[in-house]
Formats: sequence, structure tokens, C-alpha cells
Amino acid sequence: MKLICGVDLGGTKLSAALFDQKGILIGKEITHDHVNETTDGIVRVIAELIKTLLKNNSVLLTDILGIGVGLAGHILYKKGIIITTSNFKVTFTNYPFVEKMSSYFPGVKILLDNDANVQALGEYMYGAGKGFESIVFITVSTGVGSGIVLNGKLLRGKNGTAGEIGHSIIEYKSKYLCTCGNYGCAMAHSSGLFLPELYKHKLESGMTSSIGLNLDNISSFDGHFLKKGVNEGDRISISIMNESADIIGASVFNIHKMLDPDAVIIGGGLMHLGDKYMSRIKTEFKFLMHDMMEDEMVIKHSEIGADAGLLGAASLLLE
Ligand SMILES: [Zn+2]
Repeated sequence: MKLICGVDLGGTKLSAALFDQKGILIGKEITHDHVNETTDGIVRVIAELIKTLLKNNSVLLTDILGIGVGLAGHILYKKGIIITTSNFKVTFTNYPFVEKMSSYFPGVKILLDNDANVQALGEYMYGAGKGFESIVFITVSTGVGSGIVLNGKLLRGKNGTAGEIGHSIIEYKSKYLCTCGNYGCAMAHSSGLFLPELYKHKLESGMTSSIGLNLDNISSFDGHFLKKGVNEGDRISISIMNESADIIGASVFNIHKMLDPDAVIIGGGLMHLGDKYMSRIKTEFKFLMHDMMEDEMVIKHSEIGADAGLLGAASLLLE
């Protein structure tokens, strides 16, 4: 049976891996050589990395079903075009990624999608979503992303931007400005990028920090710092964690109302906050559900872990 090849293209780390169709890792290569490259240069580095991966595992191009690529950005899936990105030193703008990749691998199937979509598909096929008909995957990390899989197919929408739960407006007339230009998006109230801003507002409201943070040094307040603050009993950190969990819980409720999937699977960096965070998400969801008599929707932690982006990208070939 042919192998599947996945590429996880991040701003600082680029990795490529081969899996069999059961999702078992065959080989993996990692590089950082793309960081200072132009857009065309990044594609060249990806192609070189894949060629190294194939060579080191004695695999021929004819032994693979194709190459799946996942990255953070707006993607036109059907055309293989990157509309825009924000995680790289250079910005891909209306960039014909699949066409450029094909010049290195003529005749090979190449698929491109955004990182949340590929992770959703990976969890559906090989992780926490296995066995369910329909799932929604949410990643709570620097931002909040999500991917929707209905009956084995990713729901991409007309423009490929379906499932952007992070930019759904959860508090109208909010004071928190999102990267998209709107106020009150779910991610502006809950994700890593906004932690300094959330901390700042707590300080300005009169709360005091017990972990030495003030208006001059809060830019260092990230997910790791949040976990430390929570563990050390910092009241601001605890209230930010709880409010973030409440926002994600409300987002899960909105997903339930909109799609009624079998399961919602949650992953991403902030899940390292542990059971406190996950149980608060579930509590908020149950609170909003009141006592509606419905079959319970499963809410669970993602299972794939470190290779989620790679396995998810490779799984595009089996969609
Ligand atoms: Zn937004």
C-alpha cells in the first residue's frame, strides 16, 4: 500500500514526514533553513526536505500517494493558492503554492490546506475523532482555529474559510480588538496572542499581580507564564484562565447549536493548562445547555500530539 507524505510549514520550523495509511510514522525530517527565504525559496527548501526524506527512507516518488501540506494562513483549497499568511518573515499573497510545488514534483498529487483543517482531519482519521461521523476540532493556541469534518469530508465553504470559530464575535461591543480588525472575536478573549492585553485590563481594573507583572513588563505574559501564574495562585492569571475557558465553552455551545456534531475535540498550547481548563470548558458548555434532553455531545482532548500537523497534512490524501 502506498505511503502518504505530510508537510507542516511553520514560521520557524518546517517538517516533513512519511506515514503508512494506518497513520504509523515511517520517517521524519525537520529544518529551519526556510526562515529567511523568499516565498519561492521556501518552496525550494520544502522540495529539498521532501527529497531528503524520501532518500533517507529509500522511498521513491512512485511509492507515495502524494504530498499534503498544512500551514497557518488563508487558503483557496481547490486552486492550491495561499491568499495570505502572517506567520512568516515574508508574506505569501495570492501565491500559487501547489503550482510552484508541482514544478519540483511533476505528476505528483499535491494538496494544501490550513493547519486547523488538516489537524481536524488527522484527529478524525487517526486520533480522538476516530469512530465518530462528524467532529469539530478546535485549537486554542496563539490564536483559536477550528476545522469541521462532516461524514469524512472537511467543510471548507465557498472560499475555504469555513470553521473560523476564532473570529466568531462572542462579545458585541467588546473592548478587545482582534487581528482581523473586529472587536469581540472569541480568540481576542481567550488565546495566547491576547494574554498581555487581557492581563493589562485586569491591572487597570484595580486587580494586583502576585507574580511581579506590571504595565511595563506584561508583554512577556504568554501561555507558560499563565500556567505558572495559575499554579502560584495569582488571582489575575486564574481569572484569565477561567474567562478563556468560559469563552471556549461558549464557542463549543455555539458549535453544538450550529452543527450538532458527535464530538468536539480540543487541542493547542493552552490545553497544557490541564484538567482545570478543560473541566471549566465542559462546565460552561453544560451550564449553557441547561437541561435540554439531548444525547450528550462528546467533548474531548486531542490525541495526536506533536505530529498532529504532519499526520493531518498527510491525511489530506485520503480524504
Ligand atoms: Zn477576529
